[in-house]
Amino acid sequence: MIELSPMPYEIFQAIKNAKNPIGYDELVKITKNTRDNLSCHISRLLKQDIIAPLGNHKNRTFKSNVDPADVILVQKVKQNKPKPRTQKRPCITCRELMDSTGFNHRICNNCKSSKRYQRASNKYTPDDWGDSSGLSDLMVGFY
Ligand SMILES: [Zn+2]
Repeated sequence: MIELSPMPYEIFQAIKNAKNPIGYDELVKITKNTRDNLSCHISRLLKQDIIAPLGNHKNRTFKSNVDPADVILVQKVKQNKPKPRTQKRPCITCRELMDSTGFNHRICNNCKSSKRYQRASNKYTPDDWGDSSGLSDLMVGFY
């Protein structure tokens, strides 16, 4: 089994599908790639004996050198970012269950984006209620 990434695979398909051995000019047209780009991939395909060169250097053409059934396309797999682990916890402000990512995340997005929270947060609502030093100005004022 020969695994090719999209670009060399496309070139291989173009060569394989051509009735006659095809050269650079046709490959440029079919794959819409620059000659430089093509030659890089083609030299790799040649090295792996996936395609074979024909003709002389001036009239270089290529033909498929392997059973096309053996050639498969491999897409690069994008690595997904791992989702942050969340847990259902009640928001400390509105008590709605929310997806909390941890101890520091106890206020739901609704409350965070609400005007009341934004206005009040500095004075009355410590960002982290777990912090014992987080007495608000209001609380301190009572003592
Ligand atoms: Zn809330």
